Amino acid sequence: MKTLEKAKKNIEKVGFLNIDTPKIDYVKEINKLKKEKNAIILAHYYQIDGIQEIADFVGDSLALAQRAAKTDADMIVFAGVHFMAETAKILNPTKKVVLPDLKAGCSLADSCPPAEFSAFKKLHPNHVVVTYINCSAEIKALSDYVCTSSNAKKIIDSIPKETPIIFAPDRNLGAWLNNETGREMLLWDGACIVHEAFSIDKLLDLHKEHPNAELIAHPESEAHMLKVAKYIGSTSGLLKHVRESDKKEFIVATEAGILFQMMQENPDKIIIPAPAEEDNTCACSECHFMKMNTMQKLYLSMKYEMPSIEVDSELAKKAILPINRMLELSK
Ligand code: SF4
Repeated sequence: MKTLEKAKKNIEKVGFLNIDTPKIDYVKEINKLKKEKNAIILAHYYQIDGIQEIADFVGDSLALAQRAAKTDADMIVFAGVHFMAETAKILNPTKKVVLPDLKAGCSLADSCPPAEFSAFKKLHPNHVVVTYINCSAEIKALSDYVCTSSNAKKIIDSIPKETPIIFAPDRNLGAWLNNETGREMLLWDGACIVHEAFSIDKLLDLHKEHPNAELIAHPESEAHMLKVAKYIGSTSGLLKHVRESDKKEFIVATEAGILFQMMQENPDKIIIPAPAEEDNTCACSECHFMKMNTMQKLYLSMKYEMPSIEVDSELAKKAILPINRMLELSK
């Protein structure tokens, strides 16, 4: 018990309950805890395979937010990164929301610090603010609309043409959306380290080896990657495209975790991850934040109901408005 108390005290520092769990059958125990605690496990496609397998629901950011908004579970176990669990808490202020590892952050969310963004917004007072869901609660509270890559175009199109827009935090997604919508949105200069790690030269070499493969990419990728892609879409869009396509071979430029789902859905197709800039051992196309969640941390977070996500109630009241606008427009 001494060890548990010490681990609880240390949780802020290390991000998770650091205790040994010898000989635990995680699948069995997690399923037991789900029933005992009326818990739901929501997992992002970028989670490790074992977590995707045991989750009650696996989806992209939009689907996860929609699912979090309508759950009647008492506890939401969010197997994803911090901004996602925070969004679930904003939507469910009275429910317990746990994240297996508090340090599972997001480089894109970190690239938009609230004080700097607030100052930027003040320089453009007549602009409507649309932010990608990959941002902190503070940034959401400064926004008029939140969006995901699945619904960003629809949300931007719903804003009158003559209204100027600030788009944050992803500059690559913002530039792609400017092309798609014919707008000239002001872009915040943020980016995701995973989607900026792809190498165009290595990609073109790989394509020479697989001339029949179709290149598909997530719009967080850089412009030179998007230029050669034959299909550009959100995580769920990429999955749907591969499912419905007659083609048999694909090179996929997004976080590598999506490949698990893609291969399960399409056992007869060849799915190849797009290569990253660094050497082949760096696993650059894997989001190390997403991979911080493990089966052990998932089990411990459910058993001890920590680390839990808390959001200041005044902040949550402001942040929920643009999230609800997005959910309303996505029905
Ligand atoms: S893949 Fe990029 S945008 Fe997604 S959680 Fe990881 S760092 Fe953030």
